[in-house]
Amino acid sequence: MFGQMQDVSLQVNRILDHALVNHGEREIVSRLVEGNIHRETYADAHLRARKLSQALQKLGCGEGDVIATLAWNTHRHFEAWYGITGIGGVYHTLNPRLFPEQLTYIINHAEDKVIFTDLTFVPVLEAIAKDLLNVKGVIIMTDAAHMPDTSLQNVHCYEDLLDAQSGDFNWVEVDERAPCGMCYTSGTTGNPKGVCYTHRSNVLHTLVGNSADVMGIRSVDSIMPVVPMFHANAWGLAFGAPAAGSKIVNPGPNMDGESIYELLTQEEVTFSAAVPTVWLMLLQHLEANNLKLPKLENVTIGGSAVPRVMLEKFERDYGVAVKHAWGMTELSPLGSIASFKAGMETMSFDEQMDIKVKQGRPPYLVEMKITDDEGNELPRDGEAFGHLMVRGPFIVGEYVKGDGGEILDKDGFFDTGDVATLDPLGFMQITDRAKDVIKSGGEWISSIEIENIAVGHEDVQESAVIGIEHPKWDERPLLIVVKNPGADVTKEDMLAYLEGKIAKWWMPDDVVFVDEIPHTATGKIQKLTLRQQFADYTLPTAESAAE
Ligand code: ADP
Repeated sequence: MFGQMQDVSLQVNRILDHALVNHGEREIVSRLVEGNIHRETYADAHLRARKLSQALQKLGCGEGDVIATLAWNTHRHFEAWYGITGIGGVYHTLNPRLFPEQLTYIINHAEDKVIFTDLTFVPVLEAIAKDLLNVKGVIIMTDAAHMPDTSLQNVHCYEDLLDAQSGDFNWVEVDERAPCGMCYTSGTTGNPKGVCYTHRSNVLHTLVGNSADVMGIRSVDSIMPVVPMFHANAWGLAFGAPAAGSKIVNPGPNMDGESIYELLTQEEVTFSAAVPTVWLMLLQHLEANNLKLPKLENVTIGGSAVPRVMLEKFERDYGVAVKHAWGMTELSPLGSIASFKAGMETMSFDEQMDIKVKQGRPPYLVEMKITDDEGNELPRDGEAFGHLMVRGPFIVGEYVKGDGGEILDKDGFFDTGDVATLDPLGFMQITDRAKDVIKSGGEWISSIEIENIAVGHEDVQESAVIGIEHPKWDERPLLIVVKNPGADVTKEDMLAYLEGKIAKWWMPDDVVFVDEIPHTATGKIQKLTLRQQFADYTLPTAESAAE
């Protein structure tokens, strides 16, 4: 027996319908690859997305087809997602920072039929075009005046395609569990794996993401999604903003401190979301030029752990409230966020920072547990570390084409590959990725925690901690540091700085200074490459232990 409520399908295109009817005048502002600032409204975007749906159908695309985008955050990329899903197609975001072989692999594995590309990435596609097995056409996201000379076949100009359509189109109705979007993990080990979102998972994620204790996006907000649409489903913001009716400010290709600052102030941005590296560049720009951020109220930071100094600067020096979030492609991507519970608003600044430095609590619809290597649940005491496992309706059930086999435990929980603690109030703290954790004398040392304390030193630009083989302890931590330009800091200074801030047995056995730390395509420290670089490294403590 069923109840008697309307069975309206949770289709993402209805989000844009809602924006058209209720927020049609609200703006989408974009810095374009061509250099200019472009402005349109949700009403414009709705019409243009419908025209795009018509154009895609005329190009032979239909329900279930996977259509890729290789693009920065602009109004065109936003329209493309809705135009694609409007014909029952699946948007597939490609990360342009991947190696050409990885891009080729992903495009072929996902069976992309058409690729939308920004002008910037035309050469990237030209270089791999001959290896693409299913691609029938390429749409260059520009106008006729900017169309490039290209060796690509079956090329279309985005604006010309739109100009040729009437816009008289109704979204194709699909089941809410039909595929809607696709995003591949960056595959630091082995081939990248695909995650395929449904309309339903995206809509549920939107409701959760916009809720007050999560990102809390409102119609009065002017939001700047710095997090690229090609990374982890754009943290849901391409759906969250039109659902709330907030203004969108797209940074396009320019994510340096000066460009971000310029848009934040000119467009009176109140909310933004990005990874720590982007905020680091902004904070450096603000400090160097003695600037403030009077309009910015809230930022969500995730993708890597937020260093405490960054939190403190935003909150104390700029009056911006930070929410530290954790998530991953497989979770659509939000899994937890550090927003206060009752009583925490009146705590001291330092106590509040102790809470905000954690990755936060799971919202409703995300269940979390930590387990030992045998799958037994560990206590939520803030002390025990374990494998972080999650379950919920916007969490991956299996990878595209079943890659990686069965990925859920017997209770349906997905192993995130992260190691974390859970405290009695429900706050989760990531201590490491399972493969990066340092195993010393049978105990685990959190590389992330040491790194984050080390970057608090005024002479340190970036730091990484990896485990180095040790004859007595299995592994011991090595601290790798990039100094600030012109800084003169020594190993002894670094160790003295860490002393008292971490347990004695967590103290790195050595400190090395390097010019650069390698990063993945999504801006995370590439521990695998670091471990390879330091494979033959002998710790000074290893020699004495071996004697
Ligand atoms: P990719 O693995 O392709 O770079 P994801 O965004 O899916 O892209 O990466 C998810 C991983 O990023 C998580 O499993 C976790 O290890 C790390 N991560 C995300 N947010 C945080 C955070 N706030 N603190 C620490 N690690 C984080």
